[in-house]
Amino acid sequence: MKIIAVNAGSSSLKFQLLDMPEERLIAQGLVERIGFDEAVFTIKFNGDKISSTQPVRNHKKAVELVVEGLIKQGIISTLEEIDGVGHRVVQGGELFKDSALIDDEVIEKIASLNDLAPLHNPANITGIVAFRKALPDVPQVAVFDTTFHQTMKEEAFLYSTPYEWYEKYGVRKYGFHGTSHQYVSERAAVLLDNPKAKVIVCHLGNGVSLCAVDGGKSVDTSMGLTPLEGIPMGTRSGNVDPSVLALVAKKENRTMHEVLEDLNKRSGYLGVSGFSNDSRDIVNAMNEGGERAGFAHRIQVKRIADYIGSYYVYMGGLDAICFTAGIGENAPQVRESILEAVKVLGVRIDHEANAKNGEHVISTKDSTVKAIVIPTNEEVMIAREVMRFE
Ligand code: AMP
Repeated sequence: MKIIAVNAGSSSLKFQLLDMPEERLIAQGLVERIGFDEAVFTIKFNGDKISSTQPVRNHKKAVELVVEGLIKQGIISTLEEIDGVGHRVVQGGELFKDSALIDDEVIEKIASLNDLAPLHNPANITGIVAFRKALPDVPQVAVFDTTFHQTMKEEAFLYSTPYEWYEKYGVRKYGFHGTSHQYVSERAAVLLDNPKAKVIVCHLGNGVSLCAVDGGKSVDTSMGLTPLEGIPMGTRSGNVDPSVLALVAKKENRTMHEVLEDLNKRSGYLGVSGFSNDSRDIVNAMNEGGERAGFAHRIQVKRIADYIGSYYVYMGGLDAICFTAGIGENAPQVRESILEAVKVLGVRIDHEANAKNGEHVISTKDSTVKAIVIPTNEEVMIAREVMRFE
């Protein structure tokens, strides 16, 4: 069966065409700069990469380009070959405890959550609407970043704020990167040969979140109402005392909303180092003696270690720490710093193994807690979800 996994942003649309259940990647691509005259459409298949530049006014046009491109390049011969489409949707709130077969009602429900994800959900809906127009007879499934975390208990997801905020506005922790945490933790359970395994998934990319998974269920995660909470990231601060907002707004005569933008876009690696949001730049500068790059790295490592310690206690033990996403999969020095910081838990790093990338164990044989690198695959997870509805 051929399934398309879609990730629609406000000005971009990424897709993969997968052969299921074999999970074989047939083609992938993206349309960038949607809404502009010089939008770029790129498609990769069979080792070829083809790019073209043209005006793409909206997502409908972007989807037409993708669908026509698949036929024009001979990747599929007719639209009937597409058996399903899976859409990444960032915020499912408490309305979606599972992925959902899309109909008008599901789209309305997703739109009712726009206040909780004002940048993401409207863009996701635009992608859904455009694909439904292009492929009206093909089942389409919404796969949410939040549903994997819907198994958290109240003590993990409620904030200690006036309870009416939760009842009236949905103020609580939702967590994100759910498809990635699910994919990696399921793979870890297979590698450990233990479906009841207690694992902590460290999704370390430009966005960073940790997830405590006990027997296949998310019991806690570091992101919150929005992806700002938790660990410092490429440009996000992670946790700060909310009073920072009022203080800086007063000192700089700005609104709290403007200062919040700084916490989202000008903090983390970028804010502390003063020059880059990219982990490679931070590690290189630190190795050459850059003091602030060193701070940026060490603040992040300490915060990750804090979360790992707390999840260890909350789960009452730990079988494995898993690393995934851009940094987790590719930055041995960051992995080493984190594992050194939590070695009291019984994890012993195998330095030779850690120097390599790709899926493999990076702890020694006598390590009581295993450390494993597991490349994430959110598109495969989305396609697997679509298959459940076929
Ligand atoms: P992601 O959001 O998962 O694409 O991850 C982006 C982050 O991964 C950036 O901070 C990159 O610096 C980092 N990253 C990507 N590739 C590498 C690499 N080969 N070595 C070290 N870091 C990398």
